[in-house]
Amino acid sequence: MELDELDDLYRDAILDHCRHPRNQERVEEADIVADGVNPFCGDEIHIQIKLDPEGRVARIGFQGEGCSINQATGSMLSEAVKGRTIDGIEAISERFKAMMQDEIPQEDRPDLGELQALAGVRHFPVRIKCALLAWSTLEDGIDDFQRAHS
Ligand code: ZN
Repeated sequence: MELDELDDLYRDAILDHCRHPRNQERVEEADIVADGVNPFCGDEIHIQIKLDPEGRVARIGFQGEGCSINQATGSMLSEAVKGRTIDGIEAISERFKAMMQDEIPQEDRPDLGELQALAGVRHFPVRIKCALLAWSTLEDGIDDFQRAHS
């Protein structure tokens, strides 16, 4: 997939996150730690989350390697989950997956905010996994965290 096949609006948001990824600094002593790999295109994602006493995301760090979609998704995810509870993260993650599976009409997804920039990726089936890696990785990390605290 070439980025210039995406709509301009989408491409600009994705390029911005690729060139200036947010929250790249590693968070030490994190509550949730998640690491994922997509061998198909060499994508890697590493996420650390520190929760505040109310169980909301106080700090998040992500480090990504691989293609631009993986990088941009990790950066956008890191912004989208700030301040959310675990339930809130799972809710936005479900919405994101539904968007990527083409289950939400465009007018019904303002809650996804900037993440909607990635909707264009669903026209490139081999890249959908690149946009889902960060989210599925974070869900696995949440599962580990909940198992350790139940
Ligand atoms: Zn990729």
